[in-house]
Amino acid sequence: MSNYPQVVIVGAGFGGLGVAEQLAHVPVAVTLIDRHNYHTFQPLLYQVATSLLNAEDVGASVRSMFRHQENVNFRLGTVTGIDVAVKKIRMDDGDETNFAPALRCLRHLAKT
Ligand SMILES: Cc1cc2nc3c(=O)[nH]c(=O)nc-3n(C[C@H](O)[C@H](O)[C@H](O)COP(=O)(O)OP(=O)(O)OC[C@H]3O[C@@H](n4cnc5c(N)ncnc54)[C@H](O)[C@@H]3O)c2cc1C
Repeated sequence: MSNYPQVVIVGAGFGGLGVAEQLAHVPVAVTLIDRHNYHTFQPLLYQVATSLLNAEDVGASVRSMFRHQENVNFRLGTVTGIDVAVKKIRMDDGDETNFAPALRCLRHLAKT
């Protein structure tokens, strides 16, 4: 495991992807968690509903998106609980992931 502070991002939606990208040059180890292994580009969902696009046209593999960003690891699974007191995130498979205090990362993002 990396010696860098562990940052966990729950959700590979627009918000989660944006934060992970912003942390590309920050000395942290990012774990990006989503219950799906793909990101859905929601603004184009209506085109799938109206058969103008295939479902795979509005989905992108999260692992592929971050294959060149070494400080991001993608974890497939559903988060079932966050214990702030002990800085742990619980997953539906019983696994637990540590995370660092968010303040340092938020300070960095506030500067960018
Ligand atoms: C049909 C449609 C059209 C839209 N069009 C536009 C538009 O034109 N312009 C615009 O600005 N906005 C549009 N939006 C809104 C925009 O898509 C959302 O505001 C945006 O996707 C929200 O991003 P988010 O990261 O907060 O959440 P989401 O994109 O919803 O991402 C949340 C992610 O978290 C994951 N997740 C949730 N719970 C858990 C859990 N417990 N464990 C693990 N993973 C979890 C989900 O799988 C998901 O990938 C549209 C939305 C829809 C539905």
